[in-house]
Amino acid sequence: MTKASPDIAIVGAGIAGAAAAYRLHQLGADVEVHETSSIPGGRMASLEIAGATFDHGAQFFTTRGTEFQNLVEEAANSGAARVWTHGFGDVPDGYQRWCGVPDMTAFARWLLGKSEATVRFDEAVTDLSQLTAQAIILTPPVPVSLSLAINSGLEPPSHVRKTLEAVDYKRTIAVLLVLNQTPLGTPATGAIQLLDDPYLAFISDNQAKGVSSLPALTVHLTNETSLELWEESDETIIHFTLDKLKTHLSNVDVTSQAVTRWRYAGPVEVIPDLSISWNSRPSLVIAGETFNGPKVEGAFNSGIDAANKAMAGLSGGGGESCNE
Ligand SMILES: Cc1cc2nc3c(=O)[nH]c(=O)nc-3n(C[C@H](O)[C@H](O)[C@H](O)COP(=O)(O)OP(=O)(O)OC[C@H]3O[C@@H](n4cnc5c(N)ncnc54)[C@H](O)[C@@H]3O)c2cc1C
Repeated sequence: MTKASPDIAIVGAGIAGAAAAYRLHQLGADVEVHETSSIPGGRMASLEIAGATFDHGAQFFTTRGTEFQNLVEEAANSGAARVWTHGFGDVPDGYQRWCGVPDMTAFARWLLGKSEATVRFDEAVTDLSQLTAQAIILTPPVPVSLSLAINSGLEPPSHVRKTLEAVDYKRTIAVLLVLNQTPLGTPATGAIQLLDDPYLAFISDNQAKGVSSLPALTVHLTNETSLELWEESDETIIHFTLDKLKTHLSNVDVTSQAVTRWRYAGPVEVIPDLSISWNSRPSLVIAGETFNGPKVEGAFNSGIDAANKAMAGLSGGGGESCNE
């Protein structure tokens, strides 16, 4: 029987929120997830434009910890993930780069499905007092989570607030191009990782990757160039990108285009704790890739830790905690 109020509410169905829901299910908690978007995945979500599909945020993930590795292998056995490549250079470096199947959203969706949580999509949380759970896990980027907590009257202790206020993020502009034909110049993996290009950081051919049925390029500008062009019009950004692409690809015949501005592409510096909780009513835990991450696996680990802390809070073992 479903309870009138969930034990724990999670804000955000990105990988941190999905990981928290998954762990809470293992621990036997009743969980509700609130997600502002219509799909899960957050910064690893995919997007459709003019019939083409794009991974427009995270392009791949690595697995270092055993729990994440085992889960990703389980997802692969279920058809929701696969090893994309062992490196983007001429010679493989031996490390697995995983991606979701058919796209990056699929992995987050699979993990969320395992949690069996009630998920409310298209539901932006604007006031935490509307949530009736005993504990809340916040997984949006830190500035969003912090202002949500403060505006809801659940302000953290001043030293925690200071730590959270100091978090700064790099920006990434993603230029998404639907093409008339397959571009020339992409390697077999379908992606070019540019380590010393001052303008472009990553070029991914979504069709070659298996994400899109139509030719479609995702181009990530470097963090520096993204900052420089942030306020420019989409038209200017696309024109700039097409010009810089000529160095790497030919046959780029664009039929539709779009720009995604990732304001919170990744933390400039991570907070060493896996998540941070503080005593309030309801109790709050703040988590995500900014904690002990960054990147997809960091966000996963943070979500797991947040779930453990929220559960400890329910059973009376809570209290402010900034330790792993
Ligand atoms: C351009 C780009 C490229 C990247 N490349 C890589 C890569 O190649 N490899 C890698 O490992 N990592 C990469 N990353 C980083 C990776 O995507 C993130 O570390 C990870 O996805 C963050 O997950 P998260 O759950 O912490 O946050 P998010 O994914 O941001 O999840 C937070 C969720 O909260 C939701 N939300 C926000 N506010 C509210 C609200 N008020 N109410 C309800 N829901 C709300 C959001 O919609 C979102 O779904 C990249 C990121 C970007 C932006």
